[in-house]
Amino acid sequence: MQFPAYRPRRLRKNENLRRMVRETDLSVDDFIYPLFVTPGEGFKKEISSMPGNYQMSIDLIVEEAKEVKDLGIPAILLFGIPEVKDEAGSEAYAEDGIVQRAIRAIKKEVSNLLVVTDVCLCEYTSHGHCGIVRNGEILNDITLELLAKEALTHAEAGADIVAPSDMMDGRVAAIRSNLDENGFQDIPIMAYSAKQASAFYGPFREAAESTPQFGDRRSYQMDAANSLEAIREVALDIEEGADIVMVKPALSCLDLIHVVKQEFGYPTAAYNVSGEFSMVKAAAERGWIDERRVVLEILTGIKRAGADIIITYHAKDAARWLGE
Ligand SMILES: [Zn+2]
Repeated sequence: MQFPAYRPRRLRKNENLRRMVRETDLSVDDFIYPLFVTPGEGFKKEISSMPGNYQMSIDLIVEEAKEVKDLGIPAILLFGIPEVKDEAGSEAYAEDGIVQRAIRAIKKEVSNLLVVTDVCLCEYTSHGHCGIVRNGEILNDITLELLAKEALTHAEAGADIVAPSDMMDGRVAAIRSNLDENGFQDIPIMAYSAKQASAFYGPFREAAESTPQFGDRRSYQMDAANSLEAIREVALDIEEGADIVMVKPALSCLDLIHVVKQEFGYPTAAYNVSGEFSMVKAAAERGWIDERRVVLEILTGIKRAGADIIITYHAKDAARWLGE
């Protein structure tokens, strides 16, 4: 079709026309809102690099969860900051760990809100790595058992979905079989499948107090330059039993979100990460961008790329804006 027979502007003339032919509809149903739970009571501390996001004690997380639910957001993603960190990240898989207690409290007080839990060791280890460390190396296979144990304690506490973010090889299979053996065959796994070693995670490390004490995470997170490897990672996780696959970060990986969705047709999540959030916030604070329009455009773009689920710190604001 050619001009002048085809004039694309005909269908852009007014908002009703644009609404009618719009291909991507962003909805509150797409969102997961991350929360950071910390010990104490009545404790609430803003994460300085992520305005409007807080570390909160369990009592306040419960209140926050209610607010999230009232905004129509279907799920939260819980990260825990433990009282004490150690070499083995023991609180990650303790029955009375911070996340396990938070799940129980939320499940008791808030109905009809999905609780997704981050399954990893980095928030709980003294060295800040996602696996067990020996002689400066992050060991894969002995970490799997601990991750499987962690996921099981989350399920036992009432988690609806477990989300391993560690990027150890074989962890989805280890978690799946441990859940199945213990009667949790119906708990889905949302796997961080193509998770890149990204500089965009900077502000999150303040939020989760999970900065590695030596080296970096490039020996287990993916090289940001690779897309064929991303496909292999996703294929591996699906084969091991992942129900939802994830690409992280989102904005610099829109191509990966697209290709993963096209290739596998699986429910695909994208993590609109802390650094992506903070850049928007910083520019908006300076009056350089229209925050509302930019956020909705970014989230729509992530969905258009192929994401069914968007984990985003903008979720509460976006839910309000979409509701207006
Ligand atoms: Zn980790």
